[in-house]
Amino acid sequence: MKEGHSESILSCGLQTRAVHAGENPDPATRASSPNLVMSSTFLADPDAAFSAEGEHGDEFFYTRWSNPTVVQLEEKLAALEVAEAAMAFASGMAAVNALFFHCLRPGDHLILGDVVYAAVSETANDLLAELGIKVTRIDTSDIDAVREAFTDDTRLVYIESPCNPILRLTDIAAVAGLAHEAGARLAIDSTFATPVATQPVELGADFVIHSLTKYFGGHGDAVGGALLGPAEDIAEIRRKAGIRMGGVISPFNAWLILRGLATLPIRMKAHEAAAIEVGKYLEGHPLVKRVIYPGFETHPQFNLAKRQMKNFSGMLTFQAERHAELPRIFAEHLRLIHYAVSLGHHRSLIFNIPTEDILKTSFALTEKQEAGYRAFAGDAIFRLSVGIEDPADLCADLDRAFAALD
Ligand SMILES: *Cc1c(COP(=O)(O)O)cnc(C)c1O
Repeated sequence: MKEGHSESILSCGLQTRAVHAGENPDPATRASSPNLVMSSTFLADPDAAFSAEGEHGDEFFYTRWSNPTVVQLEEKLAALEVAEAAMAFASGMAAVNALFFHCLRPGDHLILGDVVYAAVSETANDLLAELGIKVTRIDTSDIDAVREAFTDDTRLVYIESPCNPILRLTDIAAVAGLAHEAGARLAIDSTFATPVATQPVELGADFVIHSLTKYFGGHGDAVGGALLGPAEDIAEIRRKAGIRMGGVISPFNAWLILRGLATLPIRMKAHEAAAIEVGKYLEGHPLVKRVIYPGFETHPQFNLAKRQMKNFSGMLTFQAERHAELPRIFAEHLRLIHYAVSLGHHRSLIFNIPTEDILKTSFALTEKQEAGYRAFAGDAIFRLSVGIEDPADLCADLDRAFAALD
């Protein structure tokens, strides 16, 4: 099993790393493109033990341990995030749960961003609670609130920036400083930012999470996840959460995501450019009350966004008059933009997120935190993942749909 990456590729720019890092032409065929190795098992050394986890050196043994296509993906991921090591999983949620399993034991304390991916919040509500892990939810855009949340038992701080779905940011370097002072570790779910915008390890984060399903794969055809961090931790996570719990990625999905990743930096530029144009169109529409996009001065944390994000990504939210009628209008009248969950695909996607619903099903917020959520989302938002289509066509598509309201 190979971990890490060579120094020379790390001195290259991000787009060069996206194309070349991790990719090793096959010595047998001299194929220039990465091999898709759809083999669950590999011819073994007759002296190999049946269950010597991770003790097969550079030899491949069984795909739940490691696989040549998956290793290429993991090396590319580590080179893009400038992390020591990466492990790919079957989904983003498998990566999140591997991290929780690695860092938390009964009695331990987790500081969780109060607005995180719904399934992560729901995991904290039931599974972590059942395991005796104490969870404190914090609006981590409020650094004083973060400072006060630590206890002697705090092991992990887990946040998203920008967070799904309201696009509120957290000052990663500031939270990293507080976490380390308290002897805890910081994990950032950077799915919305991608390393083109923000490299959390450079800002002091210990772990980075990605849903590879989103911008990394980028084409809406494969589910996957990744966890990045110190090589020693990732090796243990591979043994315990990968080999034993088994949520590993299929080599086929790894190959699709490896291919998608090669164009990540140029795609992110196109997503950003299209989001700016579509966001401006929406701001000018008489039915639209408010647009939130980290690249607009109207974002409540625009200064932090400029400091922490080199690219503003393709995610925006908007609030509209006659909101309740719009989901059906969008689903029936948009021709290019798909009314569907998920995000980060080349194809634009839109979805309705009513505040009351998500507060009830997923979050467990105090009154103050609920007010903080509503300050970004009002009573309901549409989350729009702006794709890489021609922005004028996306604006025309939205215009046609709005016009269908009588
Ligand atoms: C989608 C998503 C996840 C979960 O990823 P899956 O690949 O769907 O399991 C986690 N975090 C964020 C921010 C996401 O958008």
